Amino acid sequence: MRTANIIGSGPNGLAAAITLAAAGVQVQVFEANDRIGGGCSSAELTLPGFRHDLGSSAYPMGVASPFFRSLPLCRYGFRWIAPELPLAHPLEGGAAVALEPALGEMPQQLGQSDGRQWRRLFGPLAEEWDRLVPEILAPIAHLPRHPLALARFGLSALESATNLARGRFTGGRARALFAGCAAHSVMPLDAPLSAAVGLVLGAAGHTTGWPVAAGGAQSLADALAAHLRTLGGEIHTGVLVERLDDLPPADAFFFDTGVPALERIAGDRLTPVFRRNLRRFRPGPGVFKVDWALSEAIPWASPVCRLAATVHVGGSMEEIVAAEAASFEGRHADRPFVLVVQPSVCDPSRAPAGKAVAWGYAHVPNGSTLDRTEAIEAQMERFAPGFRDCILARRTHSTAELESWNPNLVGGDLSGGAMTPAQMLLRPTHRAYGTSDPAIFLCSSSTPPGGGVHGMCGFHAARRALAG
Ligand SMILES: Cc1cc2nc3c(=O)[nH]c(=O)nc-3n(C[C@H](O)[C@H](O)[C@H](O)COP(=O)(O)OP(=O)(O)OC[C@H]3O[C@@H](n4cnc5c(N)ncnc54)[C@H](O)[C@@H]3O)c2cc1C
Repeated sequence: MRTANIIGSGPNGLAAAITLAAAGVQVQVFEANDRIGGGCSSAELTLPGFRHDLGSSAYPMGVASPFFRSLPLCRYGFRWIAPELPLAHPLEGGAAVALEPALGEMPQQLGQSDGRQWRRLFGPLAEEWDRLVPEILAPIAHLPRHPLALARFGLSALESATNLARGRFTGGRARALFAGCAAHSVMPLDAPLSAAVGLVLGAAGHTTGWPVAAGGAQSLADALAAHLRTLGGEIHTGVLVERLDDLPPADAFFFDTGVPALERIAGDRLTPVFRRNLRRFRPGPGVFKVDWALSEAIPWASPVCRLAATVHVGGSMEEIVAAEAASFEGRHADRPFVLVVQPSVCDPSRAPAGKAVAWGYAHVPNGSTLDRTEAIEAQMERFAPGFRDCILARRTHSTAELESWNPNLVGGDLSGGAMTPAQMLLRPTHRAYGTSDPAIFLCSSSTPPGGGVHGMCGFHAARRALAG
């Protein structure tokens, strides 16, 4: 392969581009937006001086990513900032539970019995973290290089989050903390495998952490782009690719797009059977997101919540389970589980002095048209009384607005496809990254290892293509 075109400049598109360019391929990236980065971009969405992340903000898998770790990103001014606590979770009555960086501190958070159980569950994962991460972020169909580490993780990961939490923990604090982590899976929490994401994110908190990107998500995309350019790669923005003929000729095409866009754009280059498989691939629930410009830090009732950039707002495990189930069943929860990131707690550069930015999103049925601002802010007010008084400006994003900003967010789905066990294991291409056309590859989060900012989908797709 001598030349390659990449459609989309999200972290996976840039990762594929860097991997190809480093192998001597002449790479051109085509991005529909004027700004590169996809789910890794920032802008002044509300007021001057308030820098918001349009998509991602917290990077437990970004900082752990073997691909990102292999790059000299600091050369381009990029750095992670770790908050004092990876994660906080407010509870009723002004209480809160936190993920402590040190496992040894967990009994103070969870009580002696659940604290011991937590250490028993996460201790081996934290110890094996460096060996486990490449396995977790590998293509699904691969021969594990560390089968023991994977097996230890695998047995608990197969469970549902609710089974695991009820089986291991007796108290509400540990159960709520685990359920909040597992809810990142965008799966019903009583479904098999839904524990896996909770285990990975919990272990990340006790090891590499849950940092934010200094200056905003855009700085990560910009550093990746700067590195790509040093390798000779080119990036063209403002180019919405609608047909492969829109692009210059190349030996290979990499789609950092959603599955419907691959099916539509590659069109007749794919076999009818393959196209039918792509059309069967289903999106997951969407999200409704609110970005806030705030006059001060969020006035959480519990001071613990002021120490973490990521805060899980949803109360008890039972409430979170019910809220997440609703979005899968086509309903809107009265009290949604709100995933909040407040980067200003550790990165003052995001807002004018003393002020703050934050975002919160709730899962909703795919394509939902309901405005969830009121429900999301009511949950915030419940655990941070006075929150509404701090709002200087807000910008809301319905599922349709998210998709019109980034076409990969089909119906507001930020996971690149519904996280059913079958779709998780196979993803749409059945050959991991290849398609029925040997020159066309999918490299977005719709391929293994799936959603999140880690670049590993793009890295593996490029490696697979280079291997021939
Ligand atoms: C609101 C929100 C919050 C999130 N929070 C987090 C978080 O805190 N931590 C985390 O790790 N992950 C988070 N994610 C998920 C994360 O952003 C994604 O998993 C990740 O960005 C996927 O990377 P990607 O490269 O596959 O695709 P994307 O980042 O979606 O990038 C795809 C790019 O391709 C472009 N594109 C698509 N079609 C075309 C076309 N036809 N022509 C040209 N260009 C095209 C798009 O414009 C986009 O720029 C969040 C996502 C959202 C939406």
